Amino acid sequence: MVARSDDMKTRRFVLKVGSAAVVTAAGLAVAGTASAKVPQKGVQYVAVSTKPKSNCGNCANFVKPNACKQVDGVISPQGYCMIWSPAPK
Ligand code: SF4
Repeated sequence: MVARSDDMKTRRFVLKVGSAAVVTAAGLAVAGTASAKVPQKGVQYVAVSTKPKSNCGNCANFVKPNACKQVDGVISPQGYCMIWSPAPK
């Protein structure tokens, strides 16, 4: 009888640890995808640049046709934000 009780405690422990591991892994996966890029408002992104020689199309972070390595969402090649940096020539 004692052995069965110990067995049940072990099963509960394994279930608790396993459940915690699954929840932690899911949380890390969500956090990883959510924090990968910054929101457009956070870097003052605008769809049309007011800087004559600086726009997303000539930024090091721009990914054709309409994305950015650093900023979330659809990015226009004519756009601009405060973390613009020149693309290597
Ligand atoms: S200026 Fe550069 S960093 Fe900013 S949104 Fe455009 S491509 Fe991304």
